[in-house]
Amino acid sequence: MIRNARVRGNEFRVDIHLEGGIIAGIGAAVSHVTAEHVIDADGAVLLPGLHDHHMHLMAFAASLDSLQCGPPGVRTEADLVSALRVSNTAGDPGWVRGIGYHPGVAGDIDRDWLDRHIPERPVRIQHRGGRMWVLNSRALQALQVSHGNAPPGLERVDGRLTGRLYEGDIWLRSQLHSQRPELSTVSRRLARYGITGVTDTTPANGPDEWAYFHQSQVEGELLQRVRVMGTDAIQSCQENGLLTRGEFKVHLLESLLPDLDTLCDDIASAHAAGRSVAIHCVTLTELVFALHALEAAGVRSGDRIEHASVCPPDQLTAIHELGLRVVTQPHFIAERGDQYLTDVAAREQPWLYRAASFLTESVPLAAGSDAPFGDADPWQAMRAAVERRTAAGEVMGRAEALTPEQALRLFLSPPHSPGVGEFTLTAGSPADLCLLHSPWETVRHDLSCEQVRATWRGGELIYDSG
Ligand SMILES: [Zn+2]
Repeated sequence: MIRNARVRGNEFRVDIHLEGGIIAGIGAAVSHVTAEHVIDADGAVLLPGLHDHHMHLMAFAASLDSLQCGPPGVRTEADLVSALRVSNTAGDPGWVRGIGYHPGVAGDIDRDWLDRHIPERPVRIQHRGGRMWVLNSRALQALQVSHGNAPPGLERVDGRLTGRLYEGDIWLRSQLHSQRPELSTVSRRLARYGITGVTDTTPANGPDEWAYFHQSQVEGELLQRVRVMGTDAIQSCQENGLLTRGEFKVHLLESLLPDLDTLCDDIASAHAAGRSVAIHCVTLTELVFALHALEAAGVRSGDRIEHASVCPPDQLTAIHELGLRVVTQPHFIAERGDQYLTDVAAREQPWLYRAASFLTESVPLAAGSDAPFGDADPWQAMRAAVERRTAAGEVMGRAEALTPEQALRLFLSPPHSPGVGEFTLTAGSPADLCLLHSPWETVRHDLSCEQVRATWRGGELIYDSG
């Protein structure tokens, strides 16, 4: 039982009984209670558990053991070289796995660049966007690449491999026979943020990933409910209360756009199978292409645009008219804003990671961390949505700022309907809860994960700040 809590939308303090994984009762706080376990909220706010609408659980888990190769820790070529040197002298002769690389650090690095600085060990460094790896010669050797078996995404210039591998995650994993990373560390971190559910938006998710999520939940490693996007191969996977099938994920890449008809066919067949689609759009070209395809193929309720990173007025209107939803990453303004200020044309800057304009146009809007490509802390994302401040302190797109309440709601809509509807705490609903340390009037001025006191998923306490 949680007593003496404030629930949003309710003026008075309430007591909440949890039983059998659900909220069994909620009523005005009384002075005497008899229950086995009682937590006194002391007037602090009790929220529904937060849902991260866009993340990559396994990549997030793998990132914990990886070398950071981009800002803020690594900003210059010299920083990167010294980070690689340090990992080179580590006792383990195995792979160096680098992540978060941005060309602003040392340009378009390739195999030769890596060979100059770290020739002795196999190295793979992932570009910040997650679409490209750069491999050194040792890595190509370890992966046993030959002319016959090189995957299509491995770039060649004049017949020679440059070490750049595009869209090669599935091939990499099969060549490396890599173990899947354990999920308990990231899952516990998410619980500490008050997160009780995530949508895993990895396009390549198939039955193996589904089975791994299931096993991790059964073994208590993975505490959150997971909505799994992925290929059509998960169509027949068995759903349960913790694991549900999400949208068919389409990962557009501006430089490798599919045939428009092919994309339309993919959308139509997902719809025919009763699934909505989620289309990754970070560039304007990708967004325009996706909107054309959706217009031609038809929209199913629940179709969503991931990121909508650059959204000019015409496309914003089209998103509204087509009845699409948007899942955004407000924290990219805080994490990458200074880079955007130099890389993105001034004309496009007001259209970056818009938020208030979507709400004004009645476009359902929700948020996801995109971890490991963005920070997994939803409270930082909420703060960024309110402040729109870059790391260096510049304010970007002030007109797109949200109120703290709007920012919170980005994480409160149900997984199947981002931006539409809201979890509420009523009798009979799942006991997925996030108890804070203070009343909302305090929290709204201090959007921080330090405010999270305890988290329950299905009535089970999965985080307690103690
Ligand atoms: Zn993503």
